This record gives sequence, C-alpha cells and structure tokens, in this order.
Amino acid sequence: MIPILKRRLSKYYFFFVASLLVPLVGFFIYASQYETKFFLFLALAFAVNIVILLGLYRRLKRKRSEVDLQKEEFFEKANLMKADLEKEWQAIGAFRQKIIAYSQLKGLVERLSACLSVEDTAHTLCQEAAGLFSHGDSTIILYLFDQQTGELSIAAAERNQRAVNIKSKHGDMFDRWVMKTLQPLHLDDARHDFRFDADKVEGEDARQIRSLLSVPLLVHNKPVGILRMDSPVPGRFAKEDLRFLKAIGDVAAVTIENAQLYDKVEDLAIRDSLTGLYLRRYMLDRLAEELNRHLRRDQEMSFIMFDLDYFKRYNDRFGHTAGDIVLKYVSGLLQTHFGDPGGIICRYGGEEFCVVLPECSRKDAVARAQEFVQLVDKEDIMLRRERTHITVSIGVASFPRDAKLKEELIQKADEALYEAKKAGRNRVCSA
Ligand code: GH3
Ligand code: MG
Ligand code: MG
Repeated sequence: MIPILKRRLSKYYFFFVASLLVPLVGFFIYASQYETKFFLFLALAFAVNIVILLGLYRRLKRKRSEVDLQKEEFFEKANLMKADLEKEWQAIGAFRQKIIAYSQLKGLVERLSACLSVEDTAHTLCQEAAGLFSHGDSTIILYLFDQQTGELSIAAAERNQRAVNIKSKHGDMFDRWVMKTLQPLHLDDARHDFRFDADKVEGEDARQIRSLLSVPLLVHNKPVGILRMDSPVPGRFAKEDLRFLKAIGDVAAVTIENAQLYDKVEDLAIRDSLTGLYLRRYMLDRLAEELNRHLRRDQEMSFIMFDLDYFKRYNDRFGHTAGDIVLKYVSGLLQTHFGDPGGIICRYGGEEFCVVLPECSRKDAVARAQEFVQLVDKEDIMLRRERTHITVSIGVASFPRDAKLKEELIQKADEALYEAKKAGRNRVCSA
C-alpha cells in the first residue's frame, strides 16, 4: 500500500479507538464512583477481554509469520521450477539443433555415397558443406594429402555456391599446423593468435583470412586431407561450427578413402601393369571421344604408332627380363616426351605403343616423332654394366587429313610404321 494512505488510515484508527475509549473511560470513572460492585465486575470482564484479545493477537501474529514463511517457500519453489523449465527448454533447443544437424549429415552421407571418384567426392563435399554453413563470405577448401610426397594439394574450393581459385595450392601455415598436430584448429582472429605470425597471415594468400576452422581428415589416425573454412570477418565461427565441421570431416575422411580406392581400381583396370601406360581398350574409347570432339570443332589431331626395332633379337640376347626393363624405359621416355600437353599414351601390345595427340597437326606430330627417334637412338641403356642400344620405328597419321574414322586412322598409322620398317627402321614415316 502507498505510505501516505497508510498514514492517513492509522489517523482514522486513532480517532476511532479514541471515540470508543473516551466514553468507556467516562463510564469506568462513573462506575468506580457510584457502582463499586458493578465496577469490579466490569473491570474483571475487561481484563479477561484484554487477555483474550492479547492471546488472539499473538496467535494471529504467529499465523501471519507462518503464512509469510510458506509464501517465501512457495516463491523459492516457483523460482526453482522456472530455472528447471529454462534448462529443459535449452536442452530441447539443443536436441532440436542436433536432430537438424544429424538429418543434414544424413543428407550429406547419402549424396556422398552416390559419388565414386575422388574428384566427384571432393566437389560434392565442398558444395554440400558450404550449403550446411550459411556464412556467405566464407570459403570452404578441401586439401588431399599425398602419402608418397607428403604434400597437400587442393582438391576443391567453394564460396557462395561457386568454385573459387585458391592461390595456395599446397596449403598455408594453418594447414601445415593442422597436419603437424593432427588437431582441429579454430581461430577467432588469425592476426591476434600467438601461434601464428601476423605478418605471414597477410602474405601467404591474396585472400583476407581473419577467422578460420580447420579439421584434419583421419582414417585410422592417418591423415587423408584437411577440410577448412575461412572468412575475412573476425569471430565468424562458433565452437558449435567446429564440432559440426568435425562431424562432416569424419564422414568425408572415410568417403574420400573409399573414392581413392575406387580410383585406384579404375586405374588398374585401364593401365598396363608393366609400363603403367593406358591399355589398348581404354585408348580406343578415348580416341573415339577425341575424334568426335575434333570433328565438332573442325580441328586436326594426330595418331602415332611405335614399334621397337629387332626386339626379338634383343630379348634373345639379353633375356626377357632385360626386355621388360627396356619396355619400361621406353614408356618413361614416351611419357616425358608426349605426356604434355594432353597426349594419351598407350601400350598397344607387346613392344608396340601408340600416342593420341589432340589438336596436333601431322607436321607437328612428325616433328615430335622424329625428336623421339633421335632421343631413343642417342641414349645407350646400361644392363648389368653392359651398354645396350635400341631404336624405334614410327608411323604417323592425322585426322581428318589421312582418315576420318578411328579404325582407318589406326590402319594408316600402322601402314606408315610398316613403311618405316621397310625403309630401314629407326625412322618416322607418315601416311
Ligand atoms: P621388328 O623390327 O620388325 O619389329 O622386329 P621385332 O623383333 O621387334 O619383331 P616384332 O615386333 O614382331 O617382335 C615382337 C617381340 O617383342 C616378340 C617378343 O619377344 C617381344 N615382346 C613382346 N612383348 C614383350 C614383353 O612384354 N616383354 C618382353 N621382354 N618382350 C616382349
Ligand atoms: Mg611388334
Ligand atoms: Mg618390333
């Protein structure tokens, strides 16, 4: 109640009590003077009344304090229940978030399981992960670890649903830290983190990197790569984001390992086990594709056939194993000489090889073939401390000048090769 009102009410009480007491006192005075017996009886009754009133007052006071206590207890209980309820809500909220995260992860796993090759897996992973984190300004990058070279190399990168070109193809200082420690990394501000040199943060990549999340992708504690997100805005990622990226990373690691195995099996199916060059079947498919592409673009392309000279004699003299070493040696030379740009090199069978040279005229193909003949002729091959020598004959044919069909092109190159053999070997002939 308002204090002024309270004070006013207490004034009224005073007048009320006074208006009762004054006649009563007068009556008492009158009774004590003129009605002594009646006065005694009255005084006794009055005293009893006072005692009863005092008793009632004390009881009331006790009841009141009991009620106050109960009230306090009730409020305390209500507060506790409120706190419990809030906790429950928080738990429900967290649980709801978890359900959402799990369903998102389930979707990611489903989409990843539809990918077979590493390339496909890497791009799907980056796309999906970028979609799961709705930080528009952040870049998501997947690096794969090469067990043989011990180097990271970029597999895919995404920003705003688009592939981006990243300058550090083999990772930066943050990736090196993650690879060294095999621990997740969360930076709120890369410029103010004691673990990294602030000047180098600026220098390593043209992109601004202020906040970062990075997780190592591990299978049986062995790294297969790194999945990271970075942003030019400080404090962009929360702890919860790191936990979620880690869950994605765990799924990604296994999927990438499977995709790597798939690629390996695929590669084994299309490559020759001795030389590592493509097998004839694969080359024929690629040749058909290239012919179609060149036909559409009205471009010239070439096909080259190789056959080692007097190889039977070589085998007879030095043995079959020595012959295999030579085949490997020639394959290596073919790869370095014709591998770039885009040459499709194949072991056609036995000691015969062929190369598909896209967007290459017959003139250029003949020139490159001649260089190759000289290259093989120039070098001796050391076998058990013995100097041995081999030569190669080559036939060249080109599309569309010499042939328009796959079989025809091969036949023309084969005929040219036969001409080279007939003309004395160790030379190039064209259709
Ligand atoms: P030419 O100059 O006419 O080609 O004479 P050549 O002796 O090379 O004759 P041809 O091309 O017909 O010989 C093929 C020989 O290549 C037969 C075989 O001994 C050898 N050869 C085929 N495949 C392999 C292989 O995988 N390893 C080894 N070591 N030799 C092989
Ligand atoms: Mg042959
Ligand atoms: Mg031969």
